[in-house]
Amino acid sequence: MAMPVDTRNVFTVDLEEWFHVCGVGGELAPANWDRLPSRVEQTTAIVLDLLDAVQVRATFFVVGWVSDRYPRLIEQVLAAGHEVGSHGHQHARAYDLGPGLFREDLRASMRALAAAGAARVTMFRAPEWSITERSLWALQSLVEEGVTVDASMAPTRIVGAVTNPRHPHRRQTPAGTITEVPPLVVDRFGQAMPIGWGWGLRMSSPRRVLRAIDAANRAGVPAVLTVHPWELDPDPPRVRLPARLQFAHYFRLGGFRDRLNRILRAAPFGCVGEMAGLSVP
Ligand SMILES: [Zn+2]
Repeated sequence: MAMPVDTRNVFTVDLEEWFHVCGVGGELAPANWDRLPSRVEQTTAIVLDLLDAVQVRATFFVVGWVSDRYPRLIEQVLAAGHEVGSHGHQHARAYDLGPGLFREDLRASMRALAAAGAARVTMFRAPEWSITERSLWALQSLVEEGVTVDASMAPTRIVGAVTNPRHPHRRQTPAGTITEVPPLVVDRFGQAMPIGWGWGLRMSSPRRVLRAIDAANRAGVPAVLTVHPWELDPDPPRVRLPARLQFAHYFRLGGFRDRLNRILRAAPFGCVGEMAGLSVP
């Protein structure tokens, strides 16, 4: 399949621990995080090796909590030429935090990233795609804190909203404009399926993902893919999660690294900053 040569797709990584799951208590409650076995260094090394092998620069949305504990890891990400954005400090949903705590959490993440060498963060992704109709105020806070690109609004029913645009676009806020960069979806079984991330990406054959990327590119839209380091863990810690999260977290991890490798080799990818048309209104 021919692809327009000027289209570059976007590869992003949400850099977090395997236990950074929104809205669960018990074993994985934030109060227990420091006692849980960390896997973020090993699994991020796998992501960095993969990106190095395919010569792709990516955008890493980093949880401040991780940056505080593993600043060397963020230095490695930067030294490898990747971009760093914020994925919040405590990995909490925007609409759960509310305006005041959201801003505090955002600032804390930026301080943590700056301490690890990522000064002036201008990109953000909210945990669990949590900038929705319930939390559009967050976009204004982002602009006021110096963020120019947000990637928090998924065009699906389960997370985000099916009415969210599927292409990069500008949004107006009382504080100024912000560029929104949504993840790749396809219509399947009468629904918008997350073929660019999570279970949707893991369950799809590289051929099917590449077809979806090609279709997006033919429509002039860059495809945005997202992975988590824990999805590439060869030996993921097993915990009991509510059914929906169990599926999102563990479904078809086997062979994912190889499938991802094939996708990354077969289409042009870069970081958000390299995305063609980012400056187009
Ligand atoms: Zn996350």
